[in-house]
Amino acid sequence: MSEPIIIVGAGQAGIKAAETLRLKGFDGEIQLIGDESWPPYQRPPLSKAYLKGELSEDRLFLKAADYFAGAGIGLMTGTRIAAVDPAAHAVTLTDGRSMSWSKLLLATGTRARIVPLPGADLEGVFTLRGIDDTRHVAAALQTAESVAIIGGGYIGMEFAAVARAMGKAVTVIEAQDRILKRSVAPEISQFFQDLHAGHGVRLVLGEGVARIAGADRAEGVELANGEKVVADIVLVAAGAVPVTELAEGAGLAVERGIVVDEACRTSVPDIFAAGDCTVFPSRRYGRRIGLESVQNASDQGKAAALSMLGEETAYDPVPWFWSDQYDVKLQIAGLAQGYDRTELAGDPGEGRFALRYFSGDTLLAVDAVNDPRSHMMARKELAAIGQALAA
Ligand code: FAD
Repeated sequence: MSEPIIIVGAGQAGIKAAETLRLKGFDGEIQLIGDESWPPYQRPPLSKAYLKGELSEDRLFLKAADYFAGAGIGLMTGTRIAAVDPAAHAVTLTDGRSMSWSKLLLATGTRARIVPLPGADLEGVFTLRGIDDTRHVAAALQTAESVAIIGGGYIGMEFAAVARAMGKAVTVIEAQDRILKRSVAPEISQFFQDLHAGHGVRLVLGEGVARIAGADRAEGVELANGEKVVADIVLVAAGAVPVTELAEGAGLAVERGIVVDEACRTSVPDIFAAGDCTVFPSRRYGRRIGLESVQNASDQGKAAALSMLGEETAYDPVPWFWSDQYDVKLQIAGLAQGYDRTELAGDPGEGRFALRYFSGDTLLAVDAVNDPRSHMMARKELAAIGQALAA
């Protein structure tokens, strides 16, 4: 009997790959191995509806409990892979056991960036990446009166919206001069800054953090300028870091993430990678990119499965992403990097508009605010541009 396909990481990319293998008729053994105690689940609600208590935990799971047995997919939760040996075609578990594979998929995702701040290990300081994190911080939110959030990215701003909706005093501290700076134009940042300020969030922009204050537990955040922001809980939302140790230990090429080609192959034969942990070549953007999105994890997981089965695969997606803050949905298609002008369609004052990003005459990305139609049209438009590029 041939060795199984082993998938390390039972997240969005891992489950999509396992599912695709079965849908495509692969009838060999599949082992989906994850170190969390949960079966594969979706993360977006962790900073939105689930955090708010509006979505029950069972709705987070990507598959029904009986799916795995029915599809013949071996699911090992609470199991961490410690090392990969490419020459022996084997992985080692943290308990010392070894498992052989015919092909290996690394779908290890990202982890929350740890900021080495004094006080970061105090009680009342949280990060937000998994179900357990949301459980802990949601419980603390019940009794907290004030919240300080370090980082004005999507998770930080979604958390701010939920905390305000619960009536907490919220301060967001962002070292850059505007929120969401990494991914959107100043116009979009301004819209969301006004939105949050209108809901009573205090935004501290362009200011660093000196330490998290408190003796036994967090009492607030001391800014670099000496001001103390009083808070019962502190959320550190300073971005995510690809989980690449296994790949590095196995001698795979790693830049910011695990380097894969358009067929999700790593630099070592029979080892593939997909999702947040990768960087891949984008013909569309003319360079290697890494994405942290459900779209990428799911589509690349599928592409990796096809590639493992020997199908011709050229993964070069139109990236898309969304964020919900209060009653506003931001939907992003494409990447707003390297643009030289923007065009506004609609009226930000009415809360519904789209911002189109161009390099010369070429459309690069569209941010749609409460405008799903513009978002869907943008995805089609960007896909057509990609097809023309490929031709
Ligand atoms: P993950 O889902 O992170 O899965 C990787 C799994 O591998 C993890 O369970 C990890 O513990 C496990 N693992 C790592 N190393 C090992 C090991 N050695 N052994 C065993 N298991 C291991 N995206 C959007 O598009 N829209 C959103 O609105 C949005 N909101 C988000 C909100 C939050 C709070 C978070 C955290 C993310 C959000 N995202 C959103 C991003 C999206 O959830 C991720 O891009 C997606 O989950 C990535 O999937 P993945 O399979 O690559 O990684």
